[in-house]
Amino acid sequence: MPTRRLDSSVQYVKGIGERLAGILGKLNIFTVRDLIYHFPHRHEDWTNFVRISELRDGMTATIRASVVGADVKAARGSGLAVTKVVVEDSSGTCTLVFFGNRFLKDKFMKLRGRHIVAFGTAQSSGWGIDIRSPEWEEFKSGDQDKGLVPVYPLTEGIMQGRMRLIVGNALSTHLDIIEDTLPESLRKKHRLMELRQAISSVHFPKSIQDFNEGRRRLVFEELFTIQLALAMRKRLYDKPGCGIAFDVRPEFREELLSALPFELTNAQERVIGEIEADMARPQCMNRLLQGDVGSGKTAVAMAAILVAVRNGYQAALMAPTEILAEQHFLGLSEGLGRLGIKVDLLIGSLSAAAKRVAQQKVASGETHLAIGTHALLQEGVDFARLGLVIVDEQHRFGVLQRAALGEKGTNPDVLVMTATPIPRTMSLTVYGDLDISIIDEMPPGRRPIRTHWKGKEERSKVYQSARQLIEQGRQVYIVCPLIEESEKLQVRAATDLYNHLANDVFPDLKVGLLHGQMKTAEKDEVMKNFRSGEVLVLVATTVIEVGVDVPNATVMIIEDAERFGLAQLHQLRGRVGRADHQSYCVMIADGNTEEARQRLTVMAQTNDGFVIAEEDLKLRGPGEFYGTRQSGMPSLKIADIFRDVPVLEEARKAAFALVKADPELEAPAYAPLKRALKQKFEDLQLVAVS
Ligand code: ADP
Ligand code: MG
Repeated sequence: MPTRRLDSSVQYVKGIGERLAGILGKLNIFTVRDLIYHFPHRHEDWTNFVRISELRDGMTATIRASVVGADVKAARGSGLAVTKVVVEDSSGTCTLVFFGNRFLKDKFMKLRGRHIVAFGTAQSSGWGIDIRSPEWEEFKSGDQDKGLVPVYPLTEGIMQGRMRLIVGNALSTHLDIIEDTLPESLRKKHRLMELRQAISSVHFPKSIQDFNEGRRRLVFEELFTIQLALAMRKRLYDKPGCGIAFDVRPEFREELLSALPFELTNAQERVIGEIEADMARPQCMNRLLQGDVGSGKTAVAMAAILVAVRNGYQAALMAPTEILAEQHFLGLSEGLGRLGIKVDLLIGSLSAAAKRVAQQKVASGETHLAIGTHALLQEGVDFARLGLVIVDEQHRFGVLQRAALGEKGTNPDVLVMTATPIPRTMSLTVYGDLDISIIDEMPPGRRPIRTHWKGKEERSKVYQSARQLIEQGRQVYIVCPLIEESEKLQVRAATDLYNHLANDVFPDLKVGLLHGQMKTAEKDEVMKNFRSGEVLVLVATTVIEVGVDVPNATVMIIEDAERFGLAQLHQLRGRVGRADHQSYCVMIADGNTEEARQRLTVMAQTNDGFVIAEEDLKLRGPGEFYGTRQSGMPSLKIADIFRDVPVLEEARKAAFALVKADPELEAPAYAPLKRALKQKFEDLQLVAVS
């Protein structure tokens, strides 16, 4: 027998030829290892089926039944082929309904009188029960002895039975060469199965209990390796001498207070203390500052900037949009300007000449604080002495690539600010190498924003109420429907809404328009007029989503609110409620889908950004964050970030303890783990394993 290897082509597995290998490729299965790690997404208990008479509307179940007959018709209107298959068991009959495949009828007619297994969700229809688009396969004699049967993710050209067979073959010929990545001591401590046993139990479990234990072992390993990578990365910039030991003096705080028109909240005081402690250490700061919209992150950023500048370093502040960069520039050049700190704006839409001047000032060290978009660090801007980088509203950026900063010469301290509260699971994984500070208190005098969800037929009443508030001296945002397909259509929608509002609804009031395609000067003009109170109603696209701060604007009307995601709605709402006037958010939406209704209901029920972030993650699914380039995280093959939080915490503790004790994993017992880490993270550049 030739040497068996896990990274050999799947064609080395019995039963797989060239054609099947091609089909498996569509599932990203190329090697024997890939096949062994292709886990079932559920199991069916083939010793115990639901009886057809027990099926109820909405129930998801597996039945075993014999085929009575099949028929195919073209659906009225669309002409789509609809196949109906009548099946029965000893308790009753039901109908399986399939769409789009004209040839299914013949297939089922050949199976008449034979048994099949079908899985799906039951629906009442007329007198009987349907199961639409069920997963199904033939149930052969002897199958009743199989017990728990794995059901795999499939693709066109391969059926469950075949998949089960080849996975079984791969396990019987190659399982014994899999080396355990976790040393015995660790397995004992965390009560984990051996790897081979775990893999086999997840595919072909003897019992539910057996499956759960196998799965826990694999989940632990998956999360443990991610946490190890994070712990190692964190260690890299926690090395003494990597960063700058800033001298932090009490008079900086007095200076800050002299520049602010308010007292700091306790929460602001606390996080400033945490940041100053980081900056004083000789290691690199890598801190995430989390605070709901309006909690006052800018003042905290100012404190950090002051420390850097008073130590003779420069600071950079990066915002996700030019509008926000400009707004920071306006706000900070005023506050910091009073302290003699020189602030410059460096954004793409500056004229070439203005850009050159700004770049020169940054390069010569004349600029103390440079404000721009993320292009600030990418476009070859050279800093004379960069000591601090602040990234605002970081959910737009994804995880910051520290490597890009290192290339700027120094190793600056990094503070990432986000208004999106990060659910615990996420903060422990995607952001698991950052230290976290939380502003958990709003500035005094804020009143909770009142949020309403109104149907489209109530729109004119909503406008009338807005008018009343304008008469009391307040200002109003109206966000136009989101059109993701095209920027051009988006601009047209904004312009149409603007024309309608300016001419028909508020002809006597000054209405402004703001969208992403306007020139910087035009945007500035509109924002200036809105801030000064000349413009009373601002029609805008989501360009205003982040950071815009006009305290006298107290009404946020969101048109077609069902088109926006939860996080986006919360951000938009955060544009109001920024002073002590009562503020309102009105979402105009019909709520056509269940998911949209859930989003709107959550918004109307709570102002708590944490609750909203958790709901958002649940509604959208973790896939949006994991395994994307943006997250910098490998996709999770088996762990579930909601269900597996306890395992995650256990794995995290174990990983950080291990890296502390043995930073390079040099103990021989860890050699297999180190190899696995290298294999998993090499191309992700998450960690440099030597
Ligand atoms: P965010 O956290 O959303 O960036 P900002 O820093 O923009 O919040 O602050 C929101 C508003 O609250 C601003 O108008 C700011 O001047 C004000 N603010 C910040 N801190 C305080 C405070 N301690 N007391 C009163 N007002 C504050
Ligand atoms: Mg802000």
